[in-house]
Amino acid sequence: MHHIMRAGVSLGCLAATVAAATIKCRDCTQTLSRDVVVVGGGASGAHAAVWLRDNGHSVVVVEKADQLGGHTDFYTDPATGKSINVGVQAWMEYKDAFDFPKRMNVSTGGSMEFTANEAKFIDYKTGQPVPDYAAPAAADMYPALQRYLDVLEKYEDMVLPGFFNFPDPANIPEDLLMPFVQFVEKYDLAAAVPQIWDSTAQGLGDTMNMPALWVIQASGIPMVRALLGLGAAAVPPSGRLYDLFESVANFLGDDVLYSSTVVSAKRFNSNNPQKGVSLKVQGADGKMTCIEAKRLLLAIEPTPENMAPFDLDKTEQGVLGTFKYPTVYAGILRHPSLQTLNAYTDRAPGSAHNNYTVFPVAPQVGRIDYLGGTEDLFQFTAVGSSSDTPESMQALIAQSIDTMIEAGTLPASEGGSLSFNIFANHGHMHAHVTADDLRAGFMQKLNALQGRSHTWYTGAAFSAGFATVLWEYNKVLLPRVVEGL
Ligand SMILES: Cc1cc2nc3c(=O)[nH]c(=O)nc-3n(C[C@H](O)[C@H](O)[C@H](O)COP(=O)(O)OP(=O)(O)OC[C@H]3O[C@@H](n4cnc5c(N)ncnc54)[C@H](O)[C@@H]3O)c2cc1C
Repeated sequence: MHHIMRAGVSLGCLAATVAAATIKCRDCTQTLSRDVVVVGGGASGAHAAVWLRDNGHSVVVVEKADQLGGHTDFYTDPATGKSINVGVQAWMEYKDAFDFPKRMNVSTGGSMEFTANEAKFIDYKTGQPVPDYAAPAAADMYPALQRYLDVLEKYEDMVLPGFFNFPDPANIPEDLLMPFVQFVEKYDLAAAVPQIWDSTAQGLGDTMNMPALWVIQASGIPMVRALLGLGAAAVPPSGRLYDLFESVANFLGDDVLYSSTVVSAKRFNSNNPQKGVSLKVQGADGKMTCIEAKRLLLAIEPTPENMAPFDLDKTEQGVLGTFKYPTVYAGILRHPSLQTLNAYTDRAPGSAHNNYTVFPVAPQVGRIDYLGGTEDLFQFTAVGSSSDTPESMQALIAQSIDTMIEAGTLPASEGGSLSFNIFANHGHMHAHVTADDLRAGFMQKLNALQGRSHTWYTGAAFSAGFATVLWEYNKVLLPRVVEGL
């Protein structure tokens, strides 16, 4: 008992010691008691922690990385001092989401610079330009984007800011279930697809064959409004999105455990309101922290690997285990053969000016885009299958560039080779399920997990892949999380 008395821990820790042999308070160098423990300090977790504090609740964030921000990362070019966003590029205007940067004293007065580079459309498998391919004319693309937006707005309440109002299986609109390629045909959207694909939808891996729902989540209303100039694609005046997370980090101070992961957890039944969750967390120095909290908020992708320490029951495993994921990588590279002022974009054979519905599938390297204002830096995005790794994707990028050189599309260069200034592994993203899973009531089962064993979920898998949408999602979810605290 001594260690429990000394650490001033609640009985939850004692009970956890008995119930789950893995959690032993005496292993911990400190014990923290909080209303809510948030796991993951990216766009959704960082916002949730601030909201909880602002609403009078105590909180601690467990973050795997040594900084907050998740997919919002940056690189400072030593040659020019320029700060470059890696990953998240802009906050797409959505409802009142800009309240959050404002709350953190970060202005949204800047605007994302869309690339002006000349795009070369190349089949990266052969290294050859795709014959007969030209980007859709603006006069075709913008009306097609508007048609896309018109359809999306019909379904907005079902999917944004999350799936709170997703219809029962019998009432799911066929439009959301059909493969995206069919949806494109139905609404005559082909001229908009290259833009949708290049901006974010390529991340799905096999975009054209996904149920349209997932393309809509990956590249939906906030993105299309920004592309049409109907909504802002905002950045701080510094251009550096990471400013926001620096401000959040200052605000949260010691209530973030960095470089830390949960090693084991005991979650009590929700019928017992006195006991919430007990977590054991390991820091980079190997030291253990025990956390006693009334609620657990998971703000990470719910992959089997991420969920392993949380001792999920069969129901939770069954639902979350249904999700499938591609993997996404982004960063900055240089290679002496790449030509500045150019953008290289992967296209599948068969795509052409009269067929904008054929795209490469993962593993695949997307745009390799010259970064204006730098000497020789190129930004890239690459999409892998679920089992790809940073190593396999770096090899694929190298091979794609070599193939373009062998085909004569890029000039050979003497000396120097491919190097990565920064290679960000965004890991598993774009959680999705099949149309049959949706017809079998997947969304209802997913929603039913909220609050089970004092455990709640936020993040892109429960909402959409836009920071601003996640902040609006939290505004709906969090009042439910803190009910009864
Ligand atoms: C290349 C790229 C470009 C993008 N561009 C945009 C854009 O322009 N605009 C936009 O709004 N969105 C963009 N996104 C989408 C972006 O993913 C979302 O906006 C948002 O970051 C998702 O937030 P999240 O909180 O769900 O996840 P994340 O931001 O990824 O946060 C998850 C956090 O949890 C941490 N973590 C993970 N696993 C664990 C664990 N087991 N234990 C503890 N901590 C853990 C991670 O380190 C991370 O900090 C882009 C994504 C990528 C990859």
